Amino acid sequence: MELERARQQLETLGLEKASDALDAQLEQAARTQCTYVDFLNTLLQCEADERRKRSEETRLKLSRLPQQKSLADFDFTFQPSLDERQIKELATLAFIHRQENVIFLGPPGVGKSHLAIGMASEAIRQGMSVYFVSMSRLLADLSKAAKEGRLERRWKIYQRPKLLLIDEIGYSQLDRVSGNLFFQLICSRYEKGSMILTSNKGFTEWGELMGDQALATAILDRLLHHAHVVNIRGGSYRLRARTKAGLYTGPNPLADNDANRM
Ligand code: ADP
Ligand code: MG
Repeated sequence: MELERARQQLETLGLEKASDALDAQLEQAARTQCTYVDFLNTLLQCEADERRKRSEETRLKLSRLPQQKSLADFDFTFQPSLDERQIKELATLAFIHRQENVIFLGPPGVGKSHLAIGMASEAIRQGMSVYFVSMSRLLADLSKAAKEGRLERRWKIYQRPKLLLIDEIGYSQLDRVSGNLFFQLICSRYEKGSMILTSNKGFTEWGELMGDQALATAILDRLLHHAHVVNIRGGSYRLRARTKAGLYTGPNPLADNDANRM
């Protein structure tokens, strides 16, 4: 009776995990003869662990990260142009607390998205809100919202997260409208919220990409004011994997050469 009442109270208070764990914890407490305080702490810990887990799952879902990638799985020996110490330093995520940006540059397949997603996943684990978007989806979304007069509401999606990851800058050519929307977005996060960007195009090519040199300069001025630029110059990991499997035997078209230098 008393046990049932305790369970009811926990449920009324919204402590469902503690309610579920009550029987097992009481049994264990009796067995180990732990103190009342120990019992209470263990029971509350069950509830707290469950909540942290659920909150992390929710943040992961909301982040729209397209894949699971971890920094632990990244093979630094394959990418000698990369400063492993710099990546480890960035992986502490101190840059997010300082509202700084990280920009990964390099040809396809060198691990830009992998590193970016790995850092974003770590941010989610550490309790931060993250949002992932490809440049093409971002521009399509903002342009559509602007046309339909819903821009105010859409902005929040990109302004609110502690960390915003914009992947694959360089594959979509910007027009006047999208260029201005992108500029507004960069301004709205400037010194307020951290971003990770990846691009296959060097900064000198951004003018052409944005269709407006002055606009590109203004964007880069804000982006680079507090930024860590990571230039990856190696070969494609994708092609290496295919070469190893015997699926690709030709020369590596993405190998380190002048055309691929940023
Ligand atoms: P990019 O964004 O630069 O085009 P990705 O990050 O998508 O490249 O990498 C392509 C694929 O190769 C991904 O599956 C990624 O996990 C893997 N990859 C790239 N570089 C490495 C590396 N150094 N160690 C382990 N996996 C890697
Ligand atoms: Mg990529």
